[in-house]
Amino acid sequence: MEPARRIRNLTSAIFSELDDLGRELRAGGVDIINLSVGSPDLPPAPHIKQALAAALDEPGIYRYALTEGLPEFKQAVADWYRSRFGVDLDPEREVLSLMGSQDGLAHLYLALVNPGDTVLVPDPGYPIYRAGAVLAEGEIFPLPLLPENSFLPDLQAIPADVARRARVMLLNYPNNPVAATADLEFFRAVVGFAREYRIVVVHDIAYSELAYDGYQPPSFLQAPGAKEVGVELHSVSKSYNLAGCRLGFMVGNAAVLDALRVLKSNIDFGVFLAVQRAGIAALTGPQDTVHKAAAVYQRRRDILVRGLREAGWEVPVPRASMFIWAPLPPGHESSREFVGELARHTGVLVVPGVAFGPRGEGYVRIALVGADRRLEEAVRRIRESGLCS
Ligand SMILES: *Cc1c(COP(=O)(O)O)cnc(C)c1O
Repeated sequence: MEPARRIRNLTSAIFSELDDLGRELRAGGVDIINLSVGSPDLPPAPHIKQALAAALDEPGIYRYALTEGLPEFKQAVADWYRSRFGVDLDPEREVLSLMGSQDGLAHLYLALVNPGDTVLVPDPGYPIYRAGAVLAEGEIFPLPLLPENSFLPDLQAIPADVARRARVMLLNYPNNPVAATADLEFFRAVVGFAREYRIVVVHDIAYSELAYDGYQPPSFLQAPGAKEVGVELHSVSKSYNLAGCRLGFMVGNAAVLDALRVLKSNIDFGVFLAVQRAGIAALTGPQDTVHKAAAVYQRRRDILVRGLREAGWEVPVPRASMFIWAPLPPGHESSREFVGELARHTGVLVVPGVAFGPRGEGYVRIALVGADRRLEEAVRRIRESGLCS
């Protein structure tokens, strides 16, 4: 059997290399400290689990949910946007439930992009931005995220003929993998650019609630006119530790939502209604658990940053997201080689930056996952390895 070309174009050699490396070391008896996957490891709040459990006994809860989803869920999303960002949304037309934001990111291009259309995708970037474009047979034009531009795309550097051809621009702040943030002024510039070139802006805001030192990341939709040019995707996976439940939402431009709604109504039958009930409890219930979770990630960040700096590795301090985006220590050039060396000497597994695109070379992504003492153990091993000094 020959799989389709697009399947070959989807597989990432680097992520499978990383899996192989982990398996090989584990088989050799190495105690792996896995800081490579960004999967939340904290439990959801009790009131959310209770809502999920109670919903299981509701009559009719096991029916097909259908793409529209529960009106109460969409209302909860609209209310949350109002209280968190001061953004008004019409729950009927401007909110769409998703099977995780990944669902929306994977399928949105199919709803907006014809084969050969140009899409603007950050490099480095979260893998589905590129993979979704591959599936839709879009023409990818990379937007380099460089330290000298605070890891924001330089809109002025996009050639006018590319901008005129572009249909969609993907953005993600707080960012995975580079852990950078964007302010409203940047989003205002994006709205102007998108208006001028008639580009649909798709902003992924998965990490809006994992922010530190009192910082509150803004929504793209807070920029005046944003709703006319774009949409924002959010998720309960990271904010409420419900990653396995597969619940997210897209909000903003009604015409964009309509296109995706039509596509999705042909593909899936919506999110399990009990999961939507859990989502309502998460979004409308007390938010102190969100702040407590952010405090846990902030403490982990501090353990890693302090420990790695003591080991001679000058890593930056992220303001948000669940990652540290660390330039390779002096004397190392290839992120793949460094990740292999680090894993073999210390058992600590991180992701080579180049896995997220060519502009990720020279960096590694370290996830803030695991108990404090495991992170302390990781930095102790790295210090003793002498790899970074
Ligand atoms: C984790 C993650 C997602 C996926 O979220 P789901 O809602 O669980 O699909 C989307 N975007 C980014 C940047 C992520 O890191």
